[in-house]
Amino acid sequence: MNKIRTRFAPSPTGSLHLGGVRTAFYNWLFARQNNGTFVLRIEDTDAERSTEESAKGIIESMKWLGLNWDEGPFFQSERLAIYFDHLEKLRKNGFIYPAFDTQQELDEMRELAKKQKRNPIYDRRALKLTDYEIKQKMDAGEPFVWRFKVPDSEFTEIPELLMGEQDDHKIRNATIGDFIITRPGTKNNPGMPLYNFACVIDDALMEISHVIRGMEHLPNTPKQVLLYKALGYNVPKFVHLPIIMKNNKKMSKRDKDYDPNFPVSILERRDLGYLPDATLNFIALLGWSHPLSKELLTPFEILENFSLDRLNKANPNFDEQKYLFINGWHVKNRNDDELVQIVSPFLQKAGYDTSKYNKENLEKMMAMEKERCHLLAQFPDALNFFFVAPETYEEKGIRKSFYQPQADLILQTTAKMIASLDDTEMNKASLDSKLANMVMNLEIKYGIVGPIIRLAITGKTKTPGLAEIIEVLGKNETINRLEKARVFIKSLPPLPIDEAS
Ligand code: GLU
Repeated sequence: MNKIRTRFAPSPTGSLHLGGVRTAFYNWLFARQNNGTFVLRIEDTDAERSTEESAKGIIESMKWLGLNWDEGPFFQSERLAIYFDHLEKLRKNGFIYPAFDTQQELDEMRELAKKQKRNPIYDRRALKLTDYEIKQKMDAGEPFVWRFKVPDSEFTEIPELLMGEQDDHKIRNATIGDFIITRPGTKNNPGMPLYNFACVIDDALMEISHVIRGMEHLPNTPKQVLLYKALGYNVPKFVHLPIIMKNNKKMSKRDKDYDPNFPVSILERRDLGYLPDATLNFIALLGWSHPLSKELLTPFEILENFSLDRLNKANPNFDEQKYLFINGWHVKNRNDDELVQIVSPFLQKAGYDTSKYNKENLEKMMAMEKERCHLLAQFPDALNFFFVAPETYEEKGIRKSFYQPQADLILQTTAKMIASLDDTEMNKASLDSKLANMVMNLEIKYGIVGPIIRLAITGKTKTPGLAEIIEVLGKNETINRLEKARVFIKSLPPLPIDEAS
């Protein structure tokens, strides 16, 4: 069997989006699984829309996702001579012809076809030009494109592995129309090769065995198959992936649907704290399923179980809740020290000085919050009180806890108890039992004491356990915060009569 070779061939006209990630990932998986080769090719022949910045972003995204390639990145803009050689070969063998039609002429042609209820394909008027007429027009510098002359045979078959059972795999040549393979150019300034043309040459020369790509390219495929044949190259196998739907619409990368919380750009997802493994896990399931229907998967488990046979033809639904949930699972499964590495930039971006704590304490913070934070960007909010002493306290906590008649006594007693501890007792286990003892001696329910201390040292009503927090905050900081809260409580105005019960 020939070697498996796949490729990802993005056009650098924007950022890499989630749909593109699926294409890249499936190609990568199929190559990796078969000991094959995965090629990265940047299709940048559209000089107007391609940018270097976008190409860089795509490469950065691939690296971040861990989708490593074996060959490339190749840039089509650096391979123009190859395409022009092939163009010349097609010309010599009579597969293509120059067409000088203006936009207006083409529009009229289309209108007429519409009126006559015909398929609006090119009417081949340029084929009627004599060699002499062509030479004259070219010498006069008239702009033209090259059109591929679709053969008269009845059908073009597409070797489609996924959608192949549908009618789409056998296309009537009469419906294709002589398609354009270059942009407009002149004799001395030839037009740039277009996607269908450059793509076929590269896939052939790079010996791609399987072209796995989005469904939107299915209509291009018969044209590409015709080009392979005309050039005498082997036709690869195709897999066209179903369309990703979101809210019952095709998932769009256009601005009108832009929601900063749910960007389509993969680097923007990274900046919100989605993990690469989680992203690949979620995206793997947009068109493929695990043999045991498992949905929480490491990249290794996906790689072990992936197969083209398990691709689904139905359009998958992009479910944000599921993405978030899967991300949460991957966050939770990270080691605390790894989390420190990847969460610290988020803390620093929020303005928190992470150098205030040693590695061990930062790891403890991660352990406290990793069950609750589904996104890395949620950690700063959850951990803010470790970095900034509360300036204010949650309003509902003030009413519920700080107005308790024993609030001051409780905070004073806690501060004294903490002050009496030596360093060996400043750990979660001792703090837990010291706090429990203190509550017993106070003869006040923990349900009252706990929230008062919590509010005093964090400013919040919901946090991880007190002992864990105090252990990390340290003795002095905890005592300072308790004292500060006592001052605050003393400054509280009396509750309005109807609320003081
Ligand atoms: N440059 C094309 C795109 O980004 C590649 C399509 C293909 O995979 O053939 O859509």
